[in-house]
Amino acid sequence: MIWNKNKECMSREELRELQGKRLHKLVDLVYHNTPFYRQKMQERDLLPDDIQTIDDIVKLPFTTKQDLRDNYPLGFMAAPMSEIVRVHASSGTTGNPTIVGYTRRDLDIWKESIARCLTAYGVTRGDIVSVGYGYGLFTGGLGAHYGAEHLGATVIPTSTGNTEKHIRLLRDLKVTGIACTPSYALYLSEALKKQGLSKDDIHLRIGAFGAEPWTENMRREIEENLGIQAYNIYGLSEIMGPGVAYECECKNGSHIAEDHFYPEIINPETGEVLPIGQEGELVFTTLTKSGMPLLRYRTKDLTALMPGTCECGRTSVRFTRILGRSDDMLIIRGINVFPSQVESVILEMPEFSPQYMLVVDRKNNLDTLEVQVELRPDCLSDELGQMIELRNRLAGRLKSVLSISADVKLMEPNSIPRSEGKSKRVIDKRILA
Ligand code: ADP
Ligand code: ZN
Repeated sequence: MIWNKNKECMSREELRELQGKRLHKLVDLVYHNTPFYRQKMQERDLLPDDIQTIDDIVKLPFTTKQDLRDNYPLGFMAAPMSEIVRVHASSGTTGNPTIVGYTRRDLDIWKESIARCLTAYGVTRGDIVSVGYGYGLFTGGLGAHYGAEHLGATVIPTSTGNTEKHIRLLRDLKVTGIACTPSYALYLSEALKKQGLSKDDIHLRIGAFGAEPWTENMRREIEENLGIQAYNIYGLSEIMGPGVAYECECKNGSHIAEDHFYPEIINPETGEVLPIGQEGELVFTTLTKSGMPLLRYRTKDLTALMPGTCECGRTSVRFTRILGRSDDMLIIRGINVFPSQVESVILEMPEFSPQYMLVVDRKNNLDTLEVQVELRPDCLSDELGQMIELRNRLAGRLKSVLSISADVKLMEPNSIPRSEGKSKRVIDKRILA
């Protein structure tokens, strides 16, 4: 089944023409409404009319997370706040989150995009779908929620955190679809096992998994343990949220909703656009957004566009798995974490020296984060109460900045290994194989 045959299966020529038209309109919009882009275009002697076809996109400037940060909180909104009907936030590289805003039209496009994904997976209005992504500032929960509702499925806003209740709902309501992170799907299957249950005691048939990288091995394990078909869903808040790209029944690369999100692959060092098939950094232009439209946003995700057409009938281009990141962002329990965020919290507290190490692991399918931090020599105390208070204070600050809990380990002065040259701040023990 295809949700929007007109758009998902249009000929490449027609699609490129549509993309060119939309790009022209978009550039006109940001030139007049986003001071950042107006200035960048003026620096390049560019007027909106210089952008006529999609090939002209290379004339336009890139946008980075740093640019969003420099214009915090609302500098990239191209619509007045009276038109912005929803705001979400994702992690910034330091204390400030990245704020994204949506107009009513943006939300309509978002829910349609998710309905396309779910349809590609085989979800129909007859399905009962449990949304196990976090609800709140994070785009996963509400994004999947409204998309599934738009499709007409029955939606259960289970959210994260309460696995026992989740399993109970899966069983009692005969839930057939689930959307969550792939690692949570594995965790859920372990929890089932612990209760003496198996895939035969639940009714799930389809899963939409994303927000973090995963592998074919994980897919196999999830499919076996839960008795389902497991599909990838990809997205990022800056561009929209989940639903930017999705697998189809062929499970061979993720189709990009190219009529809304124009992809390019660039060399992350030089910014040069790379030909189809070559691995590089994924860049998106939001062709139809009106709340916070972005030109050539650098996702820092590494992948390659795939040549050839897909057997499913969709003509939109696919990318292979996300192969890594060109920056140091970690994804822990589906939440983006930058080491610099931890550093900025530590620097705020005079008791600590700026020597720290993040140790990330996956235990029983749940990501764990340990933050080791050195005390300043004059702050080291034999009084246990004092040390516990300090640890708790840091843990509390980290939780509020990162949105996930970290296990804080206070270290003696000079105990964290120093490295010459670029310091190593992260040990990631998770093996995605
Ligand atoms: P999301 O709600 O989709 O996690 P965020 O903006 O919080 O949105 O995070 C976006 C980042 O998460 C992406 O740039 C990418 O690194 C990662 N991500 C999202 N979906 C996937 C996926 N299916 N596979 C690999 N990485 C993903
Ligand atoms: Zn396909």
